Amino acid sequence: MSISREKPRASVLLIYTGGTIGMKEDAGTGALKPFDFSGIMEEVPELRKFAVTVDSYTFTPLIDSSDVEPSLWQALAKLIYESYDRYDGFVILHGTDTMAYSASALSFMLDHLSKPVIFTGSQLPIGRPRTDGKENLISAVEIAAARDGDGHALVPEVCICFNSQLLRGNRSVKVNATGFDAFSSPNYPPLATAGISIKYNTGLIHHPSEPGRPLEIHTTLDTRVSVLKVHPGITEQAVRDILLGTGTRAVIIETYGSGNAISKAWFLSIIREAVKMGKILVNITQCLSGDVDMDIYATGRALKDAGVISGHDATTESALGKLFFLMGGHPDNHEVKALLEKNLKGEISK
Ligand code: ASP
Repeated sequence: MSISREKPRASVLLIYTGGTIGMKEDAGTGALKPFDFSGIMEEVPELRKFAVTVDSYTFTPLIDSSDVEPSLWQALAKLIYESYDRYDGFVILHGTDTMAYSASALSFMLDHLSKPVIFTGSQLPIGRPRTDGKENLISAVEIAAARDGDGHALVPEVCICFNSQLLRGNRSVKVNATGFDAFSSPNYPPLATAGISIKYNTGLIHHPSEPGRPLEIHTTLDTRVSVLKVHPGITEQAVRDILLGTGTRAVIIETYGSGNAISKAWFLSIIREAVKMGKILVNITQCLSGDVDMDIYATGRALKDAGVISGHDATTESALGKLFFLMGGHPDNHEVKALLEKNLKGEISK
């Protein structure tokens, strides 16, 4: 007699924070309003075809993601932590506008992650014909529930699942305001692609370095960060206000090309003054792809010599989340600077 052991049914917690995906037309007025996610199986019956139990949790109030604050990230981290043992994976429905910021921040806030945390959303509400929401949601749930023969998650990372691609969260950027291909990960290949089946690029996926170590969350964030985008014609006063303002502990400088900025004496003298004040200045390129190398041009070299740190090939979204997280945990700016240069969660190619 042979005993067949079926893999236990996977369970996924679907967390709804707001955004376009959860909207449905009111039958009477035709106006878009959020639908009740406890009825998700009725709304997306395709989910029944998977051997997955889907529970849902809805945040109140539901928000347009343009209103996201770090308090949402803290609440998400706590919710995942508190329900971690009960689920195999987590899907977070989130507006697309700031999804890359939220996915980046969560990647640093969740330590020793051994289960998938998959952000998704849509450009068209789920209740609309031609919606991209259903496909995004179904793929996200399938990936959140996917385990290998030993029961280990296939993708134990914070990701964005959108338009048939699974991207590392802290490598993602929103690149299209209206098209279904809203997200891209210019400096890291997709972790998986959904076609007839989902193809996982297993060699690119991070797995916990200490398997079995329980999840830890870091919810202390220091948000005293500004972003300075250099541009032709920027005024000395504008640069002064951002770099020397008392409200900032760190400034992300969005530079040209491989990390080049203005070589005028007034600009470099403000940079030096900011470094002398103890500020953390991080160089991130305005280009979508490629990385910062401050040794190539004199204009980049001057920044390096003045004490600006290379952000390598990080996105601004990821550098921001990394700074919030590092500054929240380290009062000493030297420690923050040293850790900024390290690849913590696959956010830089180093
Ligand atoms: N403004 C919406 C949001 O980010 C857009 C979307 O969900 O696609 O919440």
